[in-house]
Amino acid sequence: MSDFPPYPSGLRLSGRHVLVVGGGHVAQRRIPSLIAAGADVHVVAPEVTPAIEGLVGSGEVTWHQRSYQVADLDPAWYVIAVTDDRVVNDEISDACEERRLFCVRSDDATLGSAWTPAVGRHAGVTVAVLGNRDPRRSASVRDEILTGLRDGSISARHHRERTPGVTLVGGGPGDPELISIAGRKALMEADVVVADRLAPRELLGDLPADVELIDVAKLPRGRSAQQEEINRLIVEHALAGKRVVRFKGGDNFVFGRGYEEILACREAGVPVEVIPGLTSPVAVPAIAGIPVTHRGVTHEFSVVSGHLPPGHPESLVDYTALARMQGTVVVMMGVQNAPAIAEALVSGGRPASTPVAVVCDGTMPTERTVLATLGTLAERLDAEQVRPPAIIVIGEVVRVAHPDGFPA
Ligand code: SAH
Repeated sequence: MSDFPPYPSGLRLSGRHVLVVGGGHVAQRRIPSLIAAGADVHVVAPEVTPAIEGLVGSGEVTWHQRSYQVADLDPAWYVIAVTDDRVVNDEISDACEERRLFCVRSDDATLGSAWTPAVGRHAGVTVAVLGNRDPRRSASVRDEILTGLRDGSISARHHRERTPGVTLVGGGPGDPELISIAGRKALMEADVVVADRLAPRELLGDLPADVELIDVAKLPRGRSAQQEEINRLIVEHALAGKRVVRFKGGDNFVFGRGYEEILACREAGVPVEVIPGLTSPVAVPAIAGIPVTHRGVTHEFSVVSGHLPPGHPESLVDYTALARMQGTVVVMMGVQNAPAIAEALVSGGRPASTPVAVVCDGTMPTERTVLATLGTLAERLDAEQVRPPAIIVIGEVVRVAHPDGFPA
């Protein structure tokens, strides 16, 4: 047998007769991918495993319950010899050789004329790896490639069928592992990425070199003008035929002004989609070990923006109602106004002893949790020099996570 490498080929087996001789575990492992390729699978064997019998029962393979005979090769396009009898396998592969039929042998690959690669599929791409007859090596290379395709670290950009438009992608709380698979894929397929300050930075480092990155944290301040500029940017690039990803921390619809961008796209007739992200008011406490609900402790949680102090004429948060509720309150953008928020909750009826956890820089190397109560929050934030971004969790769930942090 030669030492030349194999010549890879994508066999299109749909509707074609494939002969599998043998009904044991090796046959069982090979048959599903033949079925998936649409092959007309015929198994010749006196006995088969229960799994193969199941496939026979469901009509996915045809079973000829007997020993192999050379006439079995007549209708076949492709042959897999997987009996446990070497002599029979020899007989099959020799007969195939004579008839110029490709034959796979599981007992001794060097005696076959075809090898079965380790195979995986992702989003219409078939990956097949031939690891020089080391099946574990092939399988592990295949797995690495599939993982890369799934998480987007290997880019499988569509070069045909690319439609321009805008995709809002939520990047999660910061750790690059916490973006969704769909989000990562959209990033890797983008032509232009418009990113915020809180969008997971590390993921931007992985972008293909030809992707244009626009960092809107650098746009001049002055809030509404900035948002208008972002709307203008994404629409303009999409109208120029680009795939635009609007990339934010957490979820774009949670205090992310995402829907304003949707409206701007619709108004301009630009197709727009949304890929949700893990939102920080749930994910950051979770990473810090604090559940936002716990059976028997709270049946509700409220997420509020603390960017305006209680009583501010433009504030849309009803602190009186929040104070009367019993559940967890999660405050975002609230570091500056936390003292006033704690005061409003206490004067509305929440006990000053209510446990509070402030989780700063969630999922980042500098992450830390500062414990306090509603009564001590102002003082603790000051003493610990807490700076945004931080998530403030208020309620008995904090005691569940930190039973020793609070006197009973
Ligand atoms: N769209 C984002 C929130 C944007 S508002 C989301 O869904 O998570 C910005 C606020 O989110 C910050 O002020 C802070 O309260 C919170 N935040 C976001 N990421 C955070 C993180 N990694 N750690 C702590 N707080 C975070």
